[in-house]
Amino acid sequence: MSLSDVAGLVRSSSSFLVTSHVDLDGDAVGSELGLALALEGMGKKVAVVNEDRLPSRYEFLPGLHLLLEPSEAMSDVEVAFVLDCTSMSRIGSVEKILANGGFPIVNMDHHESNARFGSINLVRPDACAAAVLVLELISELGEAVSPDVATCLYTAVLAETGSFRLSNTSREALTVSADLVQKGADPAAIAAQVFGRKAPAAVRLVGEALRSLEVSHNGDVTLLCLARNQVESSGISGDQLEGVVNFAMAVEDARVAVFLRELSDGVIKVSLRSDGTVDVDLIARGFGGGGHSNAAGARVPGTLTDVKGRILGSIAEVLDR
Ligand code: 5GP
Repeated sequence: MSLSDVAGLVRSSSSFLVTSHVDLDGDAVGSELGLALALEGMGKKVAVVNEDRLPSRYEFLPGLHLLLEPSEAMSDVEVAFVLDCTSMSRIGSVEKILANGGFPIVNMDHHESNARFGSINLVRPDACAAAVLVLELISELGEAVSPDVATCLYTAVLAETGSFRLSNTSREALTVSADLVQKGADPAAIAAQVFGRKAPAAVRLVGEALRSLEVSHNGDVTLLCLARNQVESSGISGDQLEGVVNFAMAVEDARVAVFLRELSDGVIKVSLRSDGTVDVDLIARGFGGGGHSNAAGARVPGTLTDVKGRILGSIAEVLDR
């Protein structure tokens, strides 16, 4: 099935549900809202439904009126889009709505490890962000990209490329972004919203994470961590910590950067980044997670100390090979 099949399905259907993965990030949110606004612009009924609440840094995005809680999801869905998500289980509680729905699932993603779980799978690992696939679909549909859609999709590319610094900052990432700017996205305003506007307590919490810096393996590996009580006593929601791992990657000579955050249920959220010489997707997969070769993650049950030991052990094995 191809992009034109998906376009045909869109044209012949009138009610859509759009979702993505748990631990919502910029590509997930921007792609969802961009697609949903485009569908709304075509006169379609559409809802964006996620397990997670919208991270506050993305509250400036247009299209928030299309967000629904899973319990409010409409009963007349004809097609579901799952964006930027490697597997059904990573959708979280929204998986139940999809599994019992009996409607086609369009899986649009850019992760190599995507499990091809959809009725239609549009997976392009060389795309810098899932948002690029959304843009391709809008173009296939012959629809214009409104300034609001451009804002959502530009935000997705900005976040997914780590502000145009990661190795997925391809020619396509830059040309697509330039095109989105021409269509109305405002780079400075978007960057100010995504990376600025942090509550003082959030900046202090990042400071606590930075103070935890450990450098090991002759400087190859850097690690930051935050315990559950640190996050809870700050009153800051964990989603405000998106990107903290990049500070660990900023240490000179670092080849692999790790950020460990203890979640409330005793599970550790692991974020991994690499300078391009180590495939962190492979490491994350060893812990039931995934991602890209330079940016990957996992949720690992255990204590901080235990998970730290296991992750560092696994990285050491790869580095020592
Ligand atoms: P982050 O570290 O920013 O949460 O995620 C980096 C990349 O890894 C993103 O592409 C994200 O979707 C992916 N990722 C993070 N955690 C998981 C996980 O638990 N499972 C899978 N399959 N991918 C993950």
